[in-house]
Amino acid sequence: MEEKKKERALCPVSKKCGGCQLLDIPYKKQLDDKRKMLSGLLKDLCPVKGMLGMEDPYHYRNKVHAVFSRDRKGNPVSGVYQANSHIVVPVEKCLIEDEKADEIIGTIRGMLRSFKIKTYDEDTGYGLLRHVLVKRGFSTNEIMVVLVTASPIFPSKNNFVKALRQKHPEITTIIQNINGRGTSMVLGDRENVLYGKGYIEDVLCGRRFRVSSRSFYQVNPVQTEVLYKKAIKLAGLTGKETVIDAYCGIGTIGIIAAGSAGNVLGIELNKDAVRDAISNAKANGVKNIRFYCGDAGEFMEQMAADGEKADVVFLDPPRSGSTEKFINSVAKLGPARVVYISCGPETLARDLKWFKKAGYKAKEAWGVDMFPMVEHCECVVRLERGR
Ligand code: SAH
Repeated sequence: MEEKKKERALCPVSKKCGGCQLLDIPYKKQLDDKRKMLSGLLKDLCPVKGMLGMEDPYHYRNKVHAVFSRDRKGNPVSGVYQANSHIVVPVEKCLIEDEKADEIIGTIRGMLRSFKIKTYDEDTGYGLLRHVLVKRGFSTNEIMVVLVTASPIFPSKNNFVKALRQKHPEITTIIQNINGRGTSMVLGDRENVLYGKGYIEDVLCGRRFRVSSRSFYQVNPVQTEVLYKKAIKLAGLTGKETVIDAYCGIGTIGIIAAGSAGNVLGIELNKDAVRDAISNAKANGVKNIRFYCGDAGEFMEQMAADGEKADVVFLDPPRSGSTEKFINSVAKLGPARVVYISCGPETLARDLKWFKKAGYKAKEAWGVDMFPMVEHCECVVRLERGR
């Protein structure tokens, strides 16, 4: 009970924000609960061996998004949407977000008035600044700030950038992203680099990765290493295998695995991420990897139709999971092992059933807590061909 009160007192907006559903629960119990939940969902499908947690479960998010609006008095506010609404809950400090990112967002909010920058009003379509996104390279300390504006015209942008850099010399790149649409998507398609190289880099498992504003990159760098190391261990690579990294994002898993594989193929739908993946392979001197842009299911189907084979398949689909088409094509490629990284345990359970039908049995699952304080659960499963 004592701990309950204490945790709640740590965050004044936890109720309205709703992001940290588990804030009141001691961390150790959170891990136990997540493990139980996973075991329940995978009952009869796969034994859950453990739930790997964090030593310090706070301020782990290296990607922070703030929506900008104004309060009744017309003062700029920034924060998160209240659950199921478009009311903005003002957030100054967040227990799970990177503290430097929150500080930069606070600075930007404080600069708006003197630069006469109006926050965007969703109802009237009037105003300029819609969102700010900050991404920080955990190992490199590089910081990207993305200013999402409703129109390309950004009066006094050079002075704004200069002033922001003066206050935060640690920022390494600033991007203006233009999103004029009436949509809940944060980022639009057009971008101007206002300062720096237009992306950040980070180091994971000894490899250097380039991350652009729109590419997917895991948000908890400490646990990402734990997850990747586990995934690669479960793959049991010997240096000879043909490996597929499906839903590969910026190529992280494939590039890390390439050192202990014969050759790797990466497949990803988002073309910015594929561009990042290709440059990441080059920058790391990894020559035995190729990336393809397209739908993972179609790619696998084509490979199977061409009579190709694979020894190990990694798949790391979005929360909606994979598809029957993908899974049946995996079976045709005939890998001895499949390593499934999942951020949606319900769709994982569904997909493991499809895998079973296709001749692959799930042998062990490990939960990796990428999102302390949050209900969300990530896990990695080793599957083997045969029943
Ligand atoms: N393995 C990467 C990315 C995982 S996130 C990492 O660990 O960082 C899931 C990725 O799947 C995203 O990059 C998303 O763009 C991609 N994706 C979503 N649907 C896809 C599809 N149908 N085919 C291929 N990639 C897809």
